[in-house]
Amino acid sequence: MTATANAEKETLGFQTEAKQLLHLMIHSLYSNKEIFLRELVSNASDAADKLRFEAVKDGSLYENDPELAIRVSYDKEAKTVTISDNGIGMSREDVINHLGTIAKSGTAQFLESLSGDDKKDSQLIGQFGVGFYSSFIVANRVEVHTRKAGADSSEGVLWECEGDAEFTIESIDKPNRGTTIVLHLKDDAIEFADGWRLRSVIKKYSDHISLPVIMTKEDHGEPEEGEEPKAPEDETINSATALWTRSRSEIKDEEYQEFYKHVSHDYQDALTWSHNRVEGKLDYTSLLYIPKNAPFDLNNREGARGLKLYVQRTFIMDEAEQFLPMYLRFVKGIVDSNDLSLNVSREILQKDPNIDAMRSALTKRVLDMLDKMSKKKPEDYAVFWKQFGEVLKEGPGEDFANKEKIAKLLRFASTENDSETPEQSLEAYVSRMKEGQDKIYYVAAENFNTAKNSPHLEVFRKKGIEVLLLSDRVDDWMMSHLREFDGKTLQDVARGSLDLGDLDSEEEKEAQEKINEELKGLVERSKAALADQVEEVRLTHRLTNSPACVVVGEHDMGSQMRRLMEQAGQALPDSKPIFELNPEHPLVKKLDQEPDEDRFADLVSVLFDQATLAEGGQLNDPAAYVQRLNSLLLELSN
Ligand code: ADP
Repeated sequence: MTATANAEKETLGFQTEAKQLLHLMIHSLYSNKEIFLRELVSNASDAADKLRFEAVKDGSLYENDPELAIRVSYDKEAKTVTISDNGIGMSREDVINHLGTIAKSGTAQFLESLSGDDKKDSQLIGQFGVGFYSSFIVANRVEVHTRKAGADSSEGVLWECEGDAEFTIESIDKPNRGTTIVLHLKDDAIEFADGWRLRSVIKKYSDHISLPVIMTKEDHGEPEEGEEPKAPEDETINSATALWTRSRSEIKDEEYQEFYKHVSHDYQDALTWSHNRVEGKLDYTSLLYIPKNAPFDLNNREGARGLKLYVQRTFIMDEAEQFLPMYLRFVKGIVDSNDLSLNVSREILQKDPNIDAMRSALTKRVLDMLDKMSKKKPEDYAVFWKQFGEVLKEGPGEDFANKEKIAKLLRFASTENDSETPEQSLEAYVSRMKEGQDKIYYVAAENFNTAKNSPHLEVFRKKGIEVLLLSDRVDDWMMSHLREFDGKTLQDVARGSLDLGDLDSEEEKEAQEKINEELKGLVERSKAALADQVEEVRLTHRLTNSPACVVVGEHDMGSQMRRLMEQAGQALPDSKPIFELNPEHPLVKKLDQEPDEDRFADLVSVLFDQATLAEGGQLNDPAAYVQRLNSLLLELSN
């Protein structure tokens, strides 16, 4: 931070990130100017929540002014709009930290994702959350007058900025605690210096704010001759009750959506929500939302998550992560308890058995909400799955009790239609299972194409048996926890020996045994040639087009998980694949006829390396493979 300081008034430069965001904000949100008011009212409401919470411990913070409210006013001549609160306020340090920098997690990633094209970026900025800087959509100068609750009136601060690279900050005297923001409107935003316009925007976006938003009543004409001018009267513009305390039937969808934007700092609508009051042994209300878009730090397990916690309508904390498991970290919303103490801390929450009961109930609530969406609004569910499917896949490993419920929510790509879009549920798979099929088959690979083209699928395709195509990083890990669904084992087709059970006919089985007997010698010779590279060599009937494939041992780690752990730098025990040859393939038949042992070894090595490559694996000695292949090619051209 650069400072040309004098003790009273300093000029400071914005942190680079803030500068970039500011630029974007100003240039990209033109079409939706009015949201600035929602953002500032939302901040004012948060500031009041924070004061109420601090005042539980120290009542003197109210400074004999306990009626918390937000005031909005305007001045047509001066072209200003003013938003004022008597919430917690900010110290000089707070102002510099909160208005001069962006402390949000994921900011750096967010800025990296920007394309430089204002149009495209404007949608991203919406996802990121616009906040205080949205003032600059309508204002070319912003003043923030603020004083922290409990501080001396001489400790007021005035922050000013013209939406460019710098801002000034100076000490002022401010008798009332809290924050007053004065927006000097741009010429194209003069419309907001109007009482009716402001009222309609407040009604539209901030009706759900539990704090009253107050304006002075509009004057109805000049006083008559001899009449006293009327004293200005106040009126409350919004409903000013906490939205979640109202009954569901009274709340409009738009109100739910506006409340969502307030709690989540999201710019877009939520996909769905669930609002419930629980009475009995525990007494609480929850309002849970599923967002439409993943935040930038979704995959950061340390990132912000959790619900807003209230106790008897008093805000207690943001990001109360004890109420939902990690794999539901995308859920936003509030929980308001009537049982907890106002002094509750994170440590207490961790130990309170009632919290566990609430967590189970809220978890169920979310899973039910997703289930309902998947059935009633499959298009919405597809949006959800695209954004959050990978996170939900952490569920079976994390939440044993709800494994079956989570399993029903999973969606996969499958050989049913070979589409990359994951749209098949396990239930749908089971309903399509063949007569005699008792397992759910899947293949897991690094990416969709490798999965789709895996040689392991050949026999399944031939017999018309469906196989799920898995290619997310978490898939192998998830399947290792899921293991079965609806009483049917989930079987990795690239693991262990292939047993199609009743799906193979008696004749097929007899023919297979006969051929196994005939090619015994080939198996022995291949084993000797590949020696310590493989665990075992055997014949297989899972292939139709490919000459060979590699298979993971029944109890070994899947190849996808292995690669994942290796990338993460974990030392893993050596495990060798099983090499399987397709006895029906002309190359394999030819190989069996090869009299020269050296040449045999070369050929079988090439087949082995090819099988590894087809699996998306890496060769131990790629150069040797290339050399062998080239000498074979040379023979061809001779
Ligand atoms: P966000 O609200 O998403 O954290 P903002 O850019 O809107 O981001 O605000 C940044 C921070 O500035 C807030 O987190 C809060 O600490 C502080 N702040 C903003 N407005 C107020 C206010 N009216 N009173 C007190 N603090 C405020």
